[in-house]
Amino acid sequence: MTDLYKKALSFAQTAHTGQKRASGQPYITHLEATAQILAQWHMDDYSVAAGLLHDSIEDGAATNEDLIKEFGPTIAALVDGVTKVGEIRLRGSTEEEFVENLRKMFLAMAQDLRVVIIKLADRLHNMRTLQYLPEHKRARIARETMEVYAPLADRLGMGEVKGELEDLAFPYLYPQDYQWLKDYSAPAYKEAQKHILEAKRKLLAEMAKEKLKPEIAGRAKHIYSLYRKLLRPEINKDISLIHDLVALRVLVDTVEQCYTALGAVHKIYKPVPSLGVSDYIALPKPNGYRSIHTKVFGPDGRIIEVQIRTHAMHEESEYGVAAHFNYAAVKSKSVSGEKLETEAFAAADKLSWVKQLANWQNEVVDNQEFMQGLKFDALSHRIFVLTPNGDVKDLPAGATPIDFAYAVHSEMGDRATGAKVNGKIVPFDYQLKSGDVCEVLLTKEPRKPKIDWLKFVATHLAKQEIQKGLRTPA
Ligand code: MN
Repeated sequence: MTDLYKKALSFAQTAHTGQKRASGQPYITHLEATAQILAQWHMDDYSVAAGLLHDSIEDGAATNEDLIKEFGPTIAALVDGVTKVGEIRLRGSTEEEFVENLRKMFLAMAQDLRVVIIKLADRLHNMRTLQYLPEHKRARIARETMEVYAPLADRLGMGEVKGELEDLAFPYLYPQDYQWLKDYSAPAYKEAQKHILEAKRKLLAEMAKEKLKPEIAGRAKHIYSLYRKLLRPEINKDISLIHDLVALRVLVDTVEQCYTALGAVHKIYKPVPSLGVSDYIALPKPNGYRSIHTKVFGPDGRIIEVQIRTHAMHEESEYGVAAHFNYAAVKSKSVSGEKLETEAFAAADKLSWVKQLANWQNEVVDNQEFMQGLKFDALSHRIFVLTPNGDVKDLPAGATPIDFAYAVHSEMGDRATGAKVNGKIVPFDYQLKSGDVCEVLLTKEPRKPKIDWLKFVATHLAKQEIQKGLRTPA
């Protein structure tokens, strides 16, 4: 335990003297749990200390001045940021309020990303202890978690955090579906576990021949993610069509070993031709996720999924952007090496996404001078448009609702029959602006795109999809 940690702990204990959580436990348990989560994500010492102190102004007896005096400006600013973000009600009653609040969130995030990560740790512990709150509060908090915090964690590449937040919110939002799915999936999970254990034994033996010493573990699919998948029309609630109920995760040291391990897997279990291999190491997902996924005919001919990645990639897929602070810390201790450079670079890339949003915020408050002062190129030709659910689509300047529709889904483009921006009907050639909320109205039946659209669309994707749609016979 560092001196800073001890000092923050004792400060928090004093600030929250006599306070209890809804569970009846002393308030400090929430603060220690939040700090522990941040430490587990490998956040820096300041963030962990701020985790202990994060409620000391809002709910405790401390002031901002006390924090500056005792802990210095950085930690005080983190706590102040968390307090301010906590005041943002992301469940606004109107769409405008919601978007405005989302912007405030992004702004806080951009000033110091650690503020949002501390807020996520706070929310995670609150969700883990949600059962102690009165019923009317549970539903509101669960909905906000599902609609705002889980997607935010996803955007920051924190896959494990996103999955846990969703799983914790699920039973409060859809209690009946949750109970049904728990009962329905239990036997399938059990059987999948059995197959996975057998596959693990065989793979360890085969990989030993290749001089690999991988870490292999089964990972059960998050239940909310399973729920979403079962609701897809092509799955139609048939759990036998889900091949990654329990996936095998193979962790090795280097990228080369990932491909060697892939070879070893395919030597024992044949890949399923129609499902095959997804190489997210060669082609990472937009949120930076890297791994090789292969679906193979496993024990008893049952299809199983094997995920292969390096330990570093694994760490990043679990903790996402939080890993940046970890790598930055390692780097400052001047540990060199190509691998580290690559990791730090990948993390910095994600941060630039956050910075763009920050600049978008500055743009939408109409601070043109500020924008010109920044000379932020990326934003002069990119815009960020929101779906009605608050998802952000990144488009080139000049993009229209048709570009937006094709960016969401090719079918949404083909079936577009009208568009609303910020709640008002607009023509299809309307030029979208950053911060617009765009809703595309759809025909009931599938249909072909209109040739006229080619005259005004701005994205290559939309052009391509329209031409494709026109070529397909009706
Ligand atoms: Mn809290």
